[in-house]
Amino acid sequence: MTDTSRDAAALLRDFVNTLDVETGVDEIETPGRLAAWLRDNGLVASGSAGTATGDDLGLARDLREGLRAAMHDHHGPSDPSGPRFPPGLEGALTALPLRITLTGGPPRLVPLGSADVREGLARVAAATMDAVADGTWARLKVCQESTCRWAFLDTSKNRSRAWCSMRVCGNRTKTRAYRARLRAPEPADRANDQPAGEH
Ligand SMILES: [Zn+2]
Repeated sequence: MTDTSRDAAALLRDFVNTLDVETGVDEIETPGRLAAWLRDNGLVASGSAGTATGDDLGLARDLREGLRAAMHDHHGPSDPSGPRFPPGLEGALTALPLRITLTGGPPRLVPLGSADVREGLARVAAATMDAVADGTWARLKVCQESTCRWAFLDTSKNRSRAWCSMRVCGNRTKTRAYRARLRAPEPADRANDQPAGEH
């Protein structure tokens, strides 16, 4: 794996994780903070004015939640409880200044050099194609715990990692399943084991 490819997956993961679904804390909650995040992550030149508008922010959120939904789909056939693709996603992708380049190696998608926040967001969108090219795209996932949805790169051998952290979310999911079983009516095949009644 080249450095560029590693960066693509890390960039996509970090961009999705600018929103902590569990706490609602959003690193890019205002246009100013969006511009600052893009600058801090080297996606727009540090010297550029880099002012963002409310429209840019809406576009960034649609891109982020679209990526989150796509990463959820990487667990397998679409789970209806998964995050939804935002209705504005296609419009957001259309608004991003991107082009194909044939120079400097295999064909790649690159941002048009407009040196503003849209170029920075286009760089995030273009990273999806870099991740496809290096094979990391399908391993980018979000935690299956519905209150979490934290993005991670699945480096497990059989590509079956479901949660951001087994200790936190894995156990949380198991505890909930256990409680649900306790609440559920006694299964017929166990009716002989225990007398009916409350426990
Ligand atoms: Zn989690």
